[in-house]
Amino acid sequence: MHAVEKYFEQLNQAAEQIEQTGHGTYLEGIVYGLERWLSGAEECPIIEATKEEKRRAIQLAILKGMRKSSQPNHQMTPDSLGMIMAFLVQELADGKGNVRLFDPAIGTGNLLFTVANHLNGDVQLYGSEVDELLVQLASQTAEILNQPIEIFLQDSLRPFLLDPVDFIISDLPVGFYPDDAHADTFQLRGNQKHAYAHHLFIEQSFQYTKEGGQLFFLVPADLFSSPEAQNLHQLISTQGRLEAVFQLPEALFKNKSAAKALIILRKDTQMTLPKKDVLLAQVPTLSNRKGMELFFEKVRRWK
Ligand code: SAM
Repeated sequence: MHAVEKYFEQLNQAAEQIEQTGHGTYLEGIVYGLERWLSGAEECPIIEATKEEKRRAIQLAILKGMRKSSQPNHQMTPDSLGMIMAFLVQELADGKGNVRLFDPAIGTGNLLFTVANHLNGDVQLYGSEVDELLVQLASQTAEILNQPIEIFLQDSLRPFLLDPVDFIISDLPVGFYPDDAHADTFQLRGNQKHAYAHHLFIEQSFQYTKEGGQLFFLVPADLFSSPEAQNLHQLISTQGRLEAVFQLPEALFKNKSAAKALIILRKDTQMTLPKKDVLLAQVPTLSNRKGMELFFEKVRRWK
C-alpha cells in the first residue's frame, strides 16, 4: 500500500473511533491520532515516508473532517491552489537559502507546508490563527514533518512579536472584520459599516515584511473592483507595489462569487528597487499541460 494511504488509514481509524464513541468530532479525533504518533503511544506506519506524503495523508484526513464540520472557518487551501503558489514562491525565492515565511491566516498549515516542502534549503516558518483546533492541527503536522515553526494563537490583526520576514504567504479570510473599534486604527478601515478583513490583513502584513520582501495572497477575484479598491491601491503604492495578478481558473471554485485571484506585492517603502511591469496572467486549467508549461515559461521570462 502507498505511504499516503497507510498514513491516512491509521489517522482515519483513530478519528472514527473518537467520533463513534462520542468523545469528540472527527477533527478532534485527528488531533488525538497525531498526538499518539508524536508521543510514541503508536508507531507511524512508515518511518521513511517523504514530507509531501505525510502532508498529503494528513490533508486527506482533515478534508474528510472539514466536510463533516459545521464551522464556516474550517476551510483548507486545496492542493490545486497550493501547488501554483509553491511554484511562484519557488521561482521568486530563486535559491535564496534560509528564508523566513509567515502565513497570518495559517489555518491547518496546508498551504504553508505545501510551499515549504517545495523550497530547497532551510526555511523558518511562522503562522498565526485565531481558531485553537486549527492551530493544534498545524503545529502537530509541523512536528510530524520535522518542520520548525512558530505559531501565534491570536487575532492576526493585533500586533505580533515577530521580526519582518522575507515572504508572506496567505489564503486570506474574506468578509467583514467584526471588531470595528480596532479596525478604526487601520488606514484601510474604509467607508462600509464594517471593514473588509482581507484588506486589513494586507495592511497588517506589510508591517511584518522586510524591505524588498514579497507578499503572496489568495484574494477575491474582484479585489481591485470593490468599492474600497482605490484606498487599497493607495496603501499599496505607499508601501511598495503590485507586481503580479494571476486570475485562477473558475473551475477551481464552487461558483463565480467564490472565485479567487493570486496577487504578488513587493514591500519597498524607500522606493529604491527598479520598477517593472505588472504581470497580468490567466492560469490555465491544471489538466491543460501545454497551457501550464506556457504559463510557467511566461512567469520565468517575467522574473
Ligand atoms: N491556508 C489555510 C489552510 O491551508 O488551512 C486556510 C486559510 S482559511 C482560507 C482563512 C483562515 O483565517 C481561517 O482558518 C480562519 O480561522 C482564519 N482567520 C480569520 N480571521 C482571522 C483573524 N482575525 N485572525 C487570525 N486568523 C483568522
